[in-house]
Amino acid sequence: MRAAGPSQGAKAPSGGGTAPAGASVGAACSALWRDGWYGFARREASPNFGPRPAGALTDLIVVHSISLPPGEFGGTQVQQLFCNRLDWTAHPYFRRIEGLQVSAHFYIRRGGELWQFVSCDERAWHAGPSFYRGRRDCNDDSVGIELEGLEGDVFEPAQYECLGSLCAAIAQHYPIAHIAGHEHIAPGRKGDPGAGFDWPMLQRCLGWDRSAFPD
Ligand SMILES: [Zn+2]
Repeated sequence: MRAAGPSQGAKAPSGGGTAPAGASVGAACSALWRDGWYGFARREASPNFGPRPAGALTDLIVVHSISLPPGEFGGTQVQQLFCNRLDWTAHPYFRRIEGLQVSAHFYIRRGGELWQFVSCDERAWHAGPSFYRGRRDCNDDSVGIELEGLEGDVFEPAQYECLGSLCAAIAQHYPIAHIAGHEHIAPGRKGDPGAGFDWPMLQRCLGWDRSAFPD
């Protein structure tokens, strides 16, 4: 079992459950993940994914924000979008994104509830044209996490708690070396999660080295 996280300082997952007392780290990890699906997430499979390229090194976590319609929280429209079940006629904004086929691996609601749509072993469709740490097309080798929220606005403590636990768990299973926002991998084209996202708080929560975070 490799050490978790870019600095080996990541905490074990704490949100949503803990490993049985006395269980080895290896046993805890194998119980947490099954074929790229995280045991503490609600699962709703999206058809919007494909295989990662052969030899892809999944070393990046990409943080996003989303709400549908923008700024409205608590509905199920995001899940519907990621599963190609959104009624494009239900709101004027949906007409602007009609036909969009996207997904993310994970979605964290305002209260910290966690959903998973695509196995982390597969390539989800969240990044679009992108470039980071010297490599293009970040969908190939990243895990995408959407936070229910509005770009530029603040996020809830429960979301940071869930995000921190999730990132630590991902880093126990994949060779994560970097974490960045959509705005950092597609600057000028994307702005999420935006200025309201507290990167220093996430860094403190994870205990990862500063070099793993965006400049
Ligand atoms: Zn995004």
